[in-house]
Amino acid sequence: MKWRTQITDLEAYVPGKTIDEVKKQFGLDSIVKLASNENPFGYSPKVDEVLKNFHASFTLYPDGYATRLREEMAAFLGVSEKQLIFANGTDELIQIVSRSLLEPGKNTVMAAPTFSQYRHNAVIEGAEVREVPLKGGRHDLDAMLEQIDENTAIVWICSPNNPTGTYTTEKELTAFLDRVPEEVLVFLDEAYGEYVVADDYYDSLQLFRKYSNLIVSRTFSKIYGLASFRVGYGIANEAVIRGLEPVRPPFNTNVLGQMAAMAAIKDQDFIRECREKNRRGLQQFYDFCGRAGLFYYPSQTNFILIDFKCDSDKVFQFLLRHGYIVRSGKPLGFPTSVRVTVGTEEQNNGVIQKMGAFLKELPSVLQ
Ligand SMILES: *Cc1c(COP(=O)(O)O)cnc(C)c1O
Repeated sequence: MKWRTQITDLEAYVPGKTIDEVKKQFGLDSIVKLASNENPFGYSPKVDEVLKNFHASFTLYPDGYATRLREEMAAFLGVSEKQLIFANGTDELIQIVSRSLLEPGKNTVMAAPTFSQYRHNAVIEGAEVREVPLKGGRHDLDAMLEQIDENTAIVWICSPNNPTGTYTTEKELTAFLDRVPEEVLVFLDEAYGEYVVADDYYDSLQLFRKYSNLIVSRTFSKIYGLASFRVGYGIANEAVIRGLEPVRPPFNTNVLGQMAAMAAIKDQDFIRECREKNRRGLQQFYDFCGRAGLFYYPSQTNFILIDFKCDSDKVFQFLLRHGYIVRSGKPLGFPTSVRVTVGTEEQNNGVIQKMGAFLKELPSVLQ
């Protein structure tokens, strides 16, 4: 086969362990998955209502333009329908944007560590990847700016950032956008934007009007609790959307996902409640880290990165044996930390108790 040279060393995405796999492996009855930042409170009951009463045909192709969802979202966000693009999750939007702008001879600037898919897609397109280390767990926008040159096509900003949970402030972001050349696309990933409570977080719906090179990405996979439906979307000025649309696969969002997303957006009470419960959940982890003397980054998301100052796989394996799936920091660029999704109060207490047990056993665990 005549594979692209740039993909010969590329690894396939390794998903977290499934609940069934872990049950079988350790003979456990109940498993709590706190690994992929899904919403522990599920999704709005309004989604079930709509899906139960759904009677359209599965034989026909879905509306590839997602017209009804588009109308609802445009009204909800206060943007025009032409300022939106829908995708099979943010993952696909990242792919569409990369495919539209990157190629050999071009480069793209991103933080490190950050969400893995920016780099992954850039490598597939054969573009040069310029990674700028986080500073204190946060994007170093000044250093990122220095990496931009005439061949830079995209700059990626993940705010709040996965896996650190840290965010970029309005002041930092606007100072950055003021200095980025207009012909460089800035991709602002707000997968966790709905979780943010910080006062100095920006309003991206205002920013994209001022900066014509800004695209904001959001998803129904995280706080909306609909990861399995694969619906994400981008907000940008019409010219950017027009440029991306030909690269979007024609039927990329499916009929059930469109319906579910439409129902979910109408229940903002549910979203508010989840955001508030999440803050209380984070506090449980902060309290634990305080008691145990563990370092963590204050989080604006529904996950927390905790430094155990030892091989993160050991913590991961210990928690797994006790029925909790978390994410080892090793493949995420933090080899002594684990990333834990904030769960329900009970789930949090459970995993915190096991983390405490791990710390007690630490000397023997490390052997
Ligand atoms: C989970 C996640 C995504 C992926 O979202 P999908 O819409 O499910 O593809 C995108 N960006 C970040 C930072 C994430 O953590």
